[in-house]
Amino acid sequence: MSEEKEDKKNTNASELRQDIVSGDWVVIATGRAKRPDEFGNFQRAQDDKGIEQCLFEDPVASGQEKDVLIYHKPDGDWTLRVFPNKYPSFSLGRSTKPTTEGPYFSMPGVGYHEIVVTRDHYRQLALMDVMEIAEVFDAYQDRYLEHMSKKSVNYIAVFHNHGKEAGASITHPHSQIMAVPVVAPYVRLELDGAEKYHKSNKECVFCTVAEYESEEGKRVVFENDQFIAYCPFASRAAFEVHVMPKKHSPYFERITDEQKIKLAEVFGKSLNAIYSALNDPPYNFYIHSAPCDGGDYQHYHWHIEILPHTSTWAGFELDTGIEVSTIQPEVAAEYLRKQIQ
Ligand SMILES: [Zn+2]
Ligand SMILES: [Zn+2]
Ligand SMILES: [Zn+2]
Repeated sequence: MSEEKEDKKNTNASELRQDIVSGDWVVIATGRAKRPDEFGNFQRAQDDKGIEQCLFEDPVASGQEKDVLIYHKPDGDWTLRVFPNKYPSFSLGRSTKPTTEGPYFSMPGVGYHEIVVTRDHYRQLALMDVMEIAEVFDAYQDRYLEHMSKKSVNYIAVFHNHGKEAGASITHPHSQIMAVPVVAPYVRLELDGAEKYHKSNKECVFCTVAEYESEEGKRVVFENDQFIAYCPFASRAAFEVHVMPKKHSPYFERITDEQKIKLAEVFGKSLNAIYSALNDPPYNFYIHSAPCDGGDYQHYHWHIEILPHTSTWAGFELDTGIEVSTIQPEVAAEYLRKQIQ
């Protein structure tokens, strides 16, 4: 125990840390590191073609698909709308019948792919107020509930790319929802990990983490009575942040209106801290929630993962699956907390 403590003092030493849910290893290699305030100095891709060329300013005029959901302000202007992706990664269809070719196995890429667009081209999520963010979560939930009852849908991915380096081909703030017939492998890993942990410890691994992090405090970015945002012990990337409900729940779609506002506060403050700390970096965030395939996922616990892009995957990461983070999560969290004060 004392040896461990000695090591942590030496910030130049690399440390292998294991993710408590997935069992995956990461390397915290601070020897190559910069100071926390240097992570924001990266070459930014010039990606905004400007508001005049933007396809999401007036989705109807730019020939997008018909809205499946639209929210308005009292004065009539829209604040958020959801429509099917014109170029879906998964397409409509009923059959999920598998086919084989020799030893190979495949099935039709049946599913639903939708875009969630907020009104203001320049007002990204990190800059929105609590009620605006709560409305975005409300739209995610609305569409989630709509898709989960469909027979061909077994998993629903809700994610958001910000910045070209994070895969956003259109600058205008938008999220995506993909309802698909297969359970995502990353979620499968987490389901298995959570199940295993529960078997040996009789406790939810995510509840354990939320309680420990809240008590310990050093990796916490922000928390209120219902949600906690923290830099994971085994962060895969510098300034990675997870947001989790403190009360156990496997299912994001069961979130109440009151919880959406509490979530929006914790999530919004964290995203804004990343925005200030890293000089508006590209990032991805996504919701991990239990599959909707009828299985029993009592031991899972939904959460959001925010991954800023402060470096790119290189050979070692692709080769081994071990990700290298160049800042200690404790140092990252402390720096993010400073932005909030
Ligand atoms: Zn726009
Ligand atoms: Zn739990
Ligand atoms: Zn996850």
